[in-house]
Amino acid sequence: MLGNEQLQFFEQVLFERLGRDTPIKSFEFVSGGCINNAVKLHTATGDFFIKWNIYALEGMFEAEAKGLQILQSTQEIGTPEIYGAGQREGKAYLLLEFIASSVVLEKGFWENFGANLARMHQHTAPYFGLDFDNYIGSLPQYNDKCEDGLHFFIEKRLKTQAGLAMYEGKIDKRTYQRFEALYEKLPDILPKEKAALLHGDLWSGNYMADAQGKAILIDPAVYYGNREAELAFTHLFGGFEEDFYRAYQEEYPFVEGFEERKDLYNLYPLLVHVNLFGAGYLSAVERILNKYLD
Ligand code: ADP
Repeated sequence: MLGNEQLQFFEQVLFERLGRDTPIKSFEFVSGGCINNAVKLHTATGDFFIKWNIYALEGMFEAEAKGLQILQSTQEIGTPEIYGAGQREGKAYLLLEFIASSVVLEKGFWENFGANLARMHQHTAPYFGLDFDNYIGSLPQYNDKCEDGLHFFIEKRLKTQAGLAMYEGKIDKRTYQRFEALYEKLPDILPKEKAALLHGDLWSGNYMADAQGKAILIDPAVYYGNREAELAFTHLFGGFEEDFYRAYQEEYPFVEGFEERKDLYNLYPLLVHVNLFGAGYLSAVERILNKYLD
């Protein structure tokens, strides 16, 4: 897209979602996303954020917008204001409030974030899954509802990704069979808890600190699931501080033995990484399988 065309596209998106002309005073591209293009728009009525992609997968931004809305509706934790998703001129887009992020974290940031996430996790459902499917990265995430959390984790999370990895030759038959052996063991290891509302992709790239120092969740892959899966994922690539976990525990204590189960949950995001980014993540998968199978 050339400059003028680009500006036109952004203004059309603003008109389509806000229902009024909103001239753009200036814009700048935002980097850091894994998949999409992103821009900050400066207007007389505030700053906006558009994510867009010409190759966007079907319903990807609609699912992201709906997921953010579910998180926002709990009123427990920050999200950007959501103005909606749509398609224009062969491009799919999502329009959000622009979050001016603070570089220096306020005192209390991690405590508040941990306590707020713990409160969000106390929003439960009578089923694991969600009313609609969404994406984890650029891979489909199937959320068919299921009353049994263990069954959901095995069928809709591990088996889906292990099956894809096997089909695409990213794991061999032996590894696939080791997953099958693990499924047999999981009923004795995983606790039974109510299905908790999860962000679903909570690593250090998917939260921001706003200008007031409050945690804002972005880029979710929402579903009702086991909250231990969310907590485990925060550990996988690091970056969450001790105060976060302490405050979380005070608000909603972990089930005893979480530390020993943590790695099991991370088989799901690790398989997603194997499928998206390749064999570099396979050794971590094998290490975890060794830990629980031998
Ligand atoms: P992708 O879907 O491509 O992974 P993200 O949703 O992670 O994109 O967004 C890319 C980057 O844009 C983020 O790392 C973050 O820095 C920034 N960002 C995301 N949402 C907003 C927002 N509402 N306001 C300001 N910056 C944002």
